[in-house]
Amino acid sequence: MDLGATLCTRSKPKCGDCPVRSDCVALNTGRVNELPAPRPKKAVPERHAIFLLLMHGNDILLEKRPGSGIWGGLWCPPQFDDEAAAKDWFMRNGMEASHGERLATFSHTFTHFKLHITPLKIQLSRKPVRAAQPGSVWLDVEEALGAAIPTPVRKLLENI
Ligand code: SF4
Repeated sequence: MDLGATLCTRSKPKCGDCPVRSDCVALNTGRVNELPAPRPKKAVPERHAIFLLLMHGNDILLEKRPGSGIWGGLWCPPQFDDEAAAKDWFMRNGMEASHGERLATFSHTFTHFKLHITPLKIQLSRKPVRAAQPGSVWLDVEEALGAAIPTPVRKLLENI
């Protein structure tokens, strides 16, 4: 007999009909409502990322994600594991900032992990060569909102 499925249900255990009632610790200690204790929730792994919101006037640079992985095939701002990697990429691409600001970090929960994203909004003094690279596109923010972008990016662009 599957006790857990028939008699010993978590919400309404039928202790009166239970064949193991004499040995039941929960019943004998008056803790039928407490035992078994719920399984502790598994901690969700947390990761961090930087979004580079590269602006030229009201245009923003978006990159197409690889087909597999998170936000596969969607358009997103360039993403990095940390600020050092973002800065390195920025310098290697010969970009020049006229103004920069760090926006509030926000979180997005995926099935297997939580991603904390810190957007760095940088106004460029000129549009870099990267504009011509395949998989990258400069779009007016309004146009970008109409493109295939993930929800967190949409929320970000709506408040940029
Ligand atoms: S006696 Fe114990 S094992 Fe049986 S139904 Fe009650 S709580 Fe569950």
